Amino acid sequence: MIAGIIKIIFYVILAYIGYLFFRFFRALNKASKAPRASKGTSGMMVKDDICNTYIPKENAIRQIYEGKEYYFCSSECRQRFLEQKKSRQ
Ligand SMILES: [Zn+2]
Repeated sequence: MIAGIIKIIFYVILAYIGYLFFRFFRALNKASKAPRASKGTSGMMVKDDICNTYIPKENAIRQIYEGKEYYFCSSECRQRFLEQKKSRQ
């Protein structure tokens, strides 16, 4: 009788440990996926070809030229870029 109860308790503990492992691995999966998703949206650096500096994409001035995207730290750099492109043609 007592042996039967101990057996049941043993199985309950085993099931609980299994449940904890399941939760642990699910949390691990979530943690490894989260940084990859956030990297694409924020914290990205873009290069300003005029003064050769890197600026965060959300602070950069965006200019589309002949279907290509260019980023600049200021409107001055953008202006210089456009003048450069004009003089080459
Ligand atoms: Zn610049």
